[in-house]
Amino acid sequence: SPAQPEIRGRMGAPQKNQKQLPLRPAGAETVEALLLWYGSERRHLPWRYGPRKKADPYRVWLSEIMLQQTTVKAVIPYFQKFVARWPTVAALASAQLEEVLQQWAGLGYYSRARNLKACADAVVRDFGGVFPRTEKQLLELPGIGPYTAAAIAAIAFGEKATPVDGNIERVVSRLFAVQQALPASKPEIRRLAATLTPTRRAGDFAQAMMDLGAEICAPKNPSCLVCPLQQDCAANARGLAELLPVKAPKMARPSRYGVAFLVQRDDGAVLLRQRPEAGLLGGMLEVPSTHWGDAPPPKKEALRAAPVTTSWMPVPGTVVHVFTHFRLELVVYRALVPVDASFTLWAEQERCRWVQRRDLHAQALPSVMKKVIAHGMNAA
Ligand code: SF4
Repeated sequence: SPAQPEIRGRMGAPQKNQKQLPLRPAGAETVEALLLWYGSERRHLPWRYGPRKKADPYRVWLSEIMLQQTTVKAVIPYFQKFVARWPTVAALASAQLEEVLQQWAGLGYYSRARNLKACADAVVRDFGGVFPRTEKQLLELPGIGPYTAAAIAAIAFGEKATPVDGNIERVVSRLFAVQQALPASKPEIRRLAATLTPTRRAGDFAQAMMDLGAEICAPKNPSCLVCPLQQDCAANARGLAELLPVKAPKMARPSRYGVAFLVQRDDGAVLLRQRPEAGLLGGMLEVPSTHWGDAPPPKKEALRAAPVTTSWMPVPGTVVHVFTHFRLELVVYRALVPVDASFTLWAEQERCRWVQRRDLHAQALPSVMKKVIAHGMNAA
C-alpha cells in the first residue's frame, strides 16, 4: 500500500505521523526554490562564477575534467596551479605533454591529463581556440563524455543541458523516490533530471543541484529539515531519504601482486621507466617492476624481470595501492649499483632513465610509485 515505505531496510516501518506524499510533486516551483537557495548558500569554488554570470569555458572545462572521479578538495590546488601556469586554452595547447603530466602527477587517472592536452590542441586547431557550445560538438572532443559535455554546455554557455553526476543522481532519486537500483536506474534518473532543467539558467540549476547534493542532501544523514526542496521531495515524505538511491551490490575488488625494483646509482640517481602509452597510468614514469599478476611472483621468477644485473635486497613490508578496479600489493627490492651498471635487457634501456633524487618531485610519477620510492628509500 502507498501508506508503507516500499523499501524495507534499516529504517523499518514508517513513523505514525509521517506524510505519505510530498506537498507538491517536483517541478517548476522546485527549481525556483533551488535557485533561490543557490543565490545565498552556494559553494564558493575557484572555478565558479556567481549566479547569472558568464563563465569562462576554459575554466569550466578544466575544472570538470579534474573533478572526474576526484574530490573538490583535492582538485582546488591543482586547478589553481594550472590556471596560473596556463591561463587560456591556447596556453595549455602550447605546453609540452610531459610538462602537463608532471603538473597533473598526484591527481590520478592520468588518461585525463593526456586527453586534457589533446582536447586543448583540438580546440585550438579545429575551433580557433574557442570552445564549441553545444553538447554534440563538445562530445567530439577528447576526454569529454556525456556528463562533461552537458556540464560545459549548461555552465559555460547556458544551453539547456542536464549533467547528472553522483550528487545530482542522489538528489533526483530522492526527489522522485526512484526505487530501482543503480546502475540500472541511470536512464530514468537522467530523464527525471531533464524534466526539471529550466530553459533559462540551466547552468545555475546544474550547479545548485550539485551543491545541494554536496551540502544538504548528503549520502548519509541528509539535512532534510533545512532543505529548500523538502516540500517537493517524495523520499522525505515517505521516510525513504537515507535508503535512496538503492545500489546494486558491488563486486569485490580483486588483488594483484608484483615486485618493484628500486635501483639507486652510487651518484644518487634512481632508475625510472616509462610505461607504455596505452593502458593504466599510460606514459607515466614508474619504478620498474614485474608484471602485476593474481599471486605474488616467486623470488626466482621475479628476479628475471629485474632491470639491472646486481644483488637485490628485499625491503621488509609491502606497498599497497588501491586503484578503481583492483588493489595492488608490491614487494620492493632495492639495490645500489655503480654508475656503469649494465642493464639486463637492452630493449628496456630505451624506456629507462636515471633521475637524480632531488629531481624526483618534478617527474610525472603516479602516487603508487611515489609510495614505492618512499618505502624503498626509508629502508635505506
Ligand atoms: Fe534530499 Fe532530504 Fe532535500 Fe529530499 S528533503 S532533497 S532527501 S535533503
